[in-house]
Amino acid sequence: MFEVRGFAAPQANAPLAPFKVPRRDVGPNDVHIEILYSGVCHSDLHQARDDWGPGIFPMVPGHEIVGRVKAVGAGVTKFKVGDYAGVGCMVDSCRECESCKRDLEQYCLTHTSFTYNGTEQDKTTPTYGGYSTDIVVQERFAVKISEKLDLKATAPLLCAGITTYSPLRHWNVGPGQKVGVVGLGGLGHMGVKFAKAMGAHVTMITTSAAKGDDAKRLGADAVLLSTDAEAMKAAASSFDFLLNTIPVSHDLNPYINLLRLDGTMVLVGVLTPIDGMIGGALMLPRRTIAGSAIGGMAETQEMMDFCAEHGIVSDIEVVDMASINETYKRLVKNDVRYRFVIDMATMPA
Ligand code: NAP
Ligand code: ZN
Ligand code: ZN
Repeated sequence: MFEVRGFAAPQANAPLAPFKVPRRDVGPNDVHIEILYSGVCHSDLHQARDDWGPGIFPMVPGHEIVGRVKAVGAGVTKFKVGDYAGVGCMVDSCRECESCKRDLEQYCLTHTSFTYNGTEQDKTTPTYGGYSTDIVVQERFAVKISEKLDLKATAPLLCAGITTYSPLRHWNVGPGQKVGVVGLGGLGHMGVKFAKAMGAHVTMITTSAAKGDDAKRLGADAVLLSTDAEAMKAAASSFDFLLNTIPVSHDLNPYINLLRLDGTMVLVGVLTPIDGMIGGALMLPRRTIAGSAIGGMAETQEMMDFCAEHGIVSDIEVVDMASINETYKRLVKNDVRYRFVIDMATMPA
């Protein structure tokens, strides 16, 4: 065991502060990554504030981790010292259940070890995330990152990227389809880029009129202001697929009404109870609501390779580690264009 520098929330709703993070010694199948950048996901904020129930504290958030391999175990085949590597929302799973055998470790039926606010497979040892200088992880749970991409702008791909890529692939989004991405934040801006790269007609559905130009620049063919009741009515029954990234409980009915016959809306944002859904709006005309969580490790690598091929990265604002509490306030205020990424070189000594 060794200790590295990090930032942790000592308890729910408390400001993050410097914390010595314990890391295990490098095992035979482990890679030791020097973390260079770590993205700030809205999930970091939800968990540091106990929005999803009691968390494990002290909590070191961060599951959009990129850096350079510093050391590898004797059995490691995928990485060598000096390679770029990324770690997302998971660091382990049972590897034996039906989900794990299908490379869907995020849906492990036994125990997914999430990167932080979770436990290792012993269900006891806490995990600590990417707001730290180093991490040690099983090579299966690390992905390779192309040197062609701007490393700092690849960090958000590890969560915002895969969380939007995976449902677009699973529901076979492609040419000839009309897709709406709801909420232009970290996830939403990646959703627009991916849906466009997959050949769909993409509409950005936003509450922020001021984001319209950005949405077009990111690749959206059209912008729909969800606060404009007339425009929402005019767009009724016209979408094949909606990717809803809104982070809080909200009235789903206006969005359900946008789906055409056999259309699907996938929820990736809201985890808490949703009230007031009108059953009839689902039945007529035969609409589906579904959910999706991140993506498996094989698909995360596929997504990274897709990004290298298409030149896709995230639009980021680099922030200092010590400004994290201010950064969280800006995220709550919807003041992010479109992902904050912490430069780990700014970690206080
Ligand atoms: P974010 O950067 O804060 O973006 C969320 C966007 O949703 C905002 O930019 C805003 O877009 C819109 N929005 C915010 N509050 C809203 C409200 N009250 N009503 C309507 N729209 C609202 O957040 P993010 O990092 O993209 O994360 C989005 C959600 O996904 C979070 O809840 C996060 O925990 C969750 N998440 C889930 C997974 C998964 O595996 N399923 C993975 C990662 C994150 P406009 O200004 O355009 O309206
Ligand atoms: Zn995330
Ligand atoms: Zn499993």
